[in-house]
Amino acid sequence: MHELALAQNIVETIHRAVPPETRKNVRVVRLQVGAMAGVVPDSLEFSFNALVAKTPLSRVRMEIESIPFVVECEACGQISGNDAGISRCLECGSGKTRIRSGTELQVVNLELEDFQEEAV
Ligand SMILES: [Zn+2]
Repeated sequence: MHELALAQNIVETIHRAVPPETRKNVRVVRLQVGAMAGVVPDSLEFSFNALVAKTPLSRVRMEIESIPFVVECEACGQISGNDAGISRCLECGSGKTRIRSGTELQVVNLELEDFQEEAV
């Protein structure tokens, strides 16, 4: 994955959610990043900071919540997680599984000055 492009998307998400005159009040952007999203959090944060430097968003701090990779087996119902991104059921070996979490990358919310919160 390309963290710079992802960081650009996050900036655009903030721009869509917050009108120009309020952007300087944004303090925190909270993200959920799946363990298998293919994102290096440090790299994403670095890219974001580079993009917003010298803009009204320059004081925004990025908080990243890591979401574990979890698969649900449609054959035996087992819900299991692993750090390797294996989507096969580790209980019965079935390949018929559904990924419940771990591949997302999303902005969860923004925190603005004066403790106002805005859902995205
Ligand atoms: Zn299974």
